[in-house]
Amino acid sequence: MDKIKTILLFGAPGSGKGTQGKMLGTLPGFRHLACGDVFRSIDLNSEVGKVFLQYSSKGKLVPDDFTVRLWREHIGKLIHTGAFRPESTVLILDGIPRNVHQATMLDQYIEVVKLIALRATHDREEMIRRLKSRALKENRLDDASEKTIQHRLDVYDMESRPVLACYPKEVRVDVDALQTPIEVAHDILSAILGRLQEMREVPPPAMAEKS
Ligand code: ADP
Repeated sequence: MDKIKTILLFGAPGSGKGTQGKMLGTLPGFRHLACGDVFRSIDLNSEVGKVFLQYSSKGKLVPDDFTVRLWREHIGKLIHTGAFRPESTVLILDGIPRNVHQATMLDQYIEVVKLIALRATHDREEMIRRLKSRALKENRLDDASEKTIQHRLDVYDMESRPVLACYPKEVRVDVDALQTPIEVAHDILSAILGRLQEMREVPPPAMAEKS
């Protein structure tokens, strides 16, 4: 199978990956997939659901093998049922990879055409405020207590941030996630538009050989 053309939405919990990913996913030619949503769609009383709860309720990452297997199965089903057509659709991936090991494991499945780094961690108070307000709206156990939120932000700093170094600098764009959602969307869209134009300008290999 060819690698799936992917735009990674990367950032700390509360940086707005989900909000932006959902918006982008409504555009023709894009499909949004959030790893956290894959987990949350599982029956929490099943064995898999219990493993997810055991880690997420403490603000911890679910083990890598388990996470990547679940992600692969999920994407496999979407492709099999025709819900996602990688030949004509760009995947907007959010919430995975979340550490360097996951980035290595995903390498065989995805080609990262753009990495959008949503920067917000310099304002931890704002992150905490956003996560607390989401916890009330979405009934999320992982954001229910400030201690768990703090732990999630620490895990991001220690384990997730190093993922940024796994991809070439040329594919990365930093976006200020503390702007209003529409301003963040504007910055992301202009970054993506530029990259899509570049991708269209690259002639297919056969033509490149002739010229
Ligand atoms: P947020 O965007 O606020 O960080 P997510 O919905 O992406 O939240 O994730 C919720 C929880 O699901 C995480 O705290 C973690 O326990 C688990 N999880 C999601 N994605 C991954 C991943 N790639 N690796 C390990 N655990 C994950």
